[in-house]
Amino acid sequence: MKIAIVGAGAMGSVYAGLLAGAGHEVWAIDRWAGHVEAIRERGLRVEGASGDRTVRIGATTDPAEAGEADLVVLATKAMDVSAAAGAARPLLGPETLVLSIQNGLGGPDAAAAVLGDERVVVGVAGGFGASLVAPGHVHHNGFELVRLGERSGPVTPRIESVAEVWRGAGFTVRTYDDVDRLVWEKLVCNVAFSGTCSVLGRTIGEVLADEHAWSVASRCAVEAHEVARALGIGLDFGDALAHVRAFGEAIPGAKPSMLLDLEAGRPTEIDFINGAIPREGARAGVPAPFNETVSALVRALEQGTIDAVLEGLRVALHAHRVTLRRDVPGDYAFPVTVEALGAGVGSLRDERTVDLRTQPVVALLQGGEQVVQDDTRGAFDDPSFHRMLETYGGLAAQIVTPIFADDRLEAIISVHVLGEPRAWSADDTAACRRAAARVRGLL
Ligand code: NAD
Repeated sequence: MKIAIVGAGAMGSVYAGLLAGAGHEVWAIDRWAGHVEAIRERGLRVEGASGDRTVRIGATTDPAEAGEADLVVLATKAMDVSAAAGAARPLLGPETLVLSIQNGLGGPDAAAAVLGDERVVVGVAGGFGASLVAPGHVHHNGFELVRLGERSGPVTPRIESVAEVWRGAGFTVRTYDDVDRLVWEKLVCNVAFSGTCSVLGRTIGEVLADEHAWSVASRCAVEAHEVARALGIGLDFGDALAHVRAFGEAIPGAKPSMLLDLEAGRPTEIDFINGAIPREGARAGVPAPFNETVSALVRALEQGTIDAVLEGLRVALHAHRVTLRRDVPGDYAFPVTVEALGAGVGSLRDERTVDLRTQPVVALLQGGEQVVQDDTRGAFDDPSFHRMLETYGGLAAQIVTPIFADDRLEAIISVHVLGEPRAWSADDTAACRRAAARVRGLL
């Protein structure tokens, strides 16, 4: 079978490695070029509870290179499913099935909204504890269960055949006649620990051991259980708290991926996990104040992460100020006034636009007023640029790094450097680009 994994991150790489090990033709498709390059050069190494293997598979950032597949697995985080589904179109033939496999509520619906109701089926993985060790190398602590089902209605032959493919690769697979049960069984456990551990910065075991922390975590789980019941979703467990406790006690040292995401400055899946409970509760007339509060706190921590990223960049660049501007034109074209640098400063003006995809912009400011802009390449090493700084005493340089969402300019990061001119290095540019990528994920 030809299988394309879109979003070959921690879990996607585990799927890719094991399915390839079982003899399938597998493509790892990810927007992270460094990971893709490493897989192309050295193969993909999957290490942990399932063993240790390195497989040679196709890897690309461009789905068109992989071509039509029999099965497309969307293994991104929930908030990236829409974009990943859009990008997956070149992988689809008339019979291609799409398995959307995320935690929380809403991933498969987002995929179906882009690719149609017919071809999308649902998965939820649990008990893997997967993380990327390095580009091209993933580790997983557990190897527990993959749940599969249709988006509505009972198990079909196509679900059974996907389950067989995954079982053949060593996974334990359970198929479900009822998608809601499939999703909510895991969700009730996730809402207990994801938000609470993230707010407190604690492991699952630490939350279980602290009566105050557990009082919040358990209320989050009880609310989710009440909402599920009100929506008519039959869950397997009568005593939700005993079920959640048993889930947590099996992995006391683990940090939920939401906490790992916060610690790494990445966006979290809060809107699809704790944040989904008040939303669904409103449909069923069941309030969910604990989940609402915990979600608000996690969002506040995420927002704080943007400020932390910008502050980190300010420190790294010895900059005076770093700001995020969202009032941007929306397309690539950024208007630039280039003034001829040199003896007759400001004597020549050339109005043009630069393409922000390829040309970051540096602007010179005086007393807050913009006097000169040019693209950054070489500007800090250019003697005429330094003369410019001397001529305009107290000048600042503003370096602009664009942030794109899909094909639109969404925001720019402005770095204001004051005082002595200094060489602008490739490391400085890389720091700006890294910060832009992290902020983009948080917007
Ligand atoms: P991850 O962030 O490690 O991997 C997601 C990957 O998707 C990243 O490599 C990212 O670059 C890529 N991506 C995002 N948008 C893309 C796009 N448009 N096109 C191509 N690639 C794109 O996340 P993960 O930990 O593997 O989690 C994936 C899902 O599985 C989540 O819903 C998570 O909650 C769930 N899950 C994770 C684990 C675990 O142990 N890590 C366990 C169970 C469930």
